[in-house]
Amino acid sequence: MSVNSLKYNEIIQLLSISNTTLIAVSKTKPIEDLQEMYALGQRDFGENYVQELVDKEAKLPKDIHWHFIGHLQSNKVKYIAPFVHLIHGVDSLKLLQEINKQALKNNRTIDCLLQLHIAEEETKFGLDQSEIEAIKLILPTLHNIRILGFMGMASFSENMVKVKREFIHLKNEFDLFKIWTNQNPMDATSNGISILSMGMSGDYQLAIECGSTMVRIGSLLFGARDYNK
Ligand SMILES: *Cc1c(COP(=O)(O)O)cnc(C)c1O
Repeated sequence: MSVNSLKYNEIIQLLSISNTTLIAVSKTKPIEDLQEMYALGQRDFGENYVQELVDKEAKLPKDIHWHFIGHLQSNKVKYIAPFVHLIHGVDSLKLLQEINKQALKNNRTIDCLLQLHIAEEETKFGLDQSEIEAIKLILPTLHNIRILGFMGMASFSENMVKVKREFIHLKNEFDLFKIWTNQNPMDATSNGISILSMGMSGDYQLAIECGSTMVRIGSLLFGARDYNK
């Protein structure tokens, strides 16, 4: 058995108390590991690479909710548009417009999270304040996407004071955006803003304390990743 089922049960229990959803991040992991996780009852899986996601989707049960959590290139949206459940990493206006276009082609609405740049280190993708403002202006013209909330990645750091500051910053931006969507009803936000995707293996407990509603956990469940395989 390569999946840590004890850890899984422990995490599920904690999350049920705090009403938080678990995304099992299965990137680089073989189909068998996902099947094991599926047998434990897990239905939400997160992947970072388009080709890998497309391959896995074809081989695994259709009731899985596939979350795309990586950096998505506009020219690859078409491959996942038919089935993706939620795109977490929307980090440009251009990408959002392409998702809308591909959703329309597939005659569906695609749910998205805006990825904010919160890490004080300059290493992570994400929107800044001016880009959020630009997206707000264009949102009324997009009818085949739905913004359900925000996603962010904190600094990869042992410094939990810093990580906490970044999570609180994201939560504040999330709350402000929520107020804005209530004042400006439109298709693209019609169901309201309800998802705050933050927290990974190393910081998920802190993320939950700071208001996360969805955590993305990989290595704690599946073991360390080997990118050379
Ligand atoms: C890989 C990845 C995760 C999971 O990371 P772990 O530290 O293994 O839990 C979560 N979110 C994103 C965006 C990732 O790329």
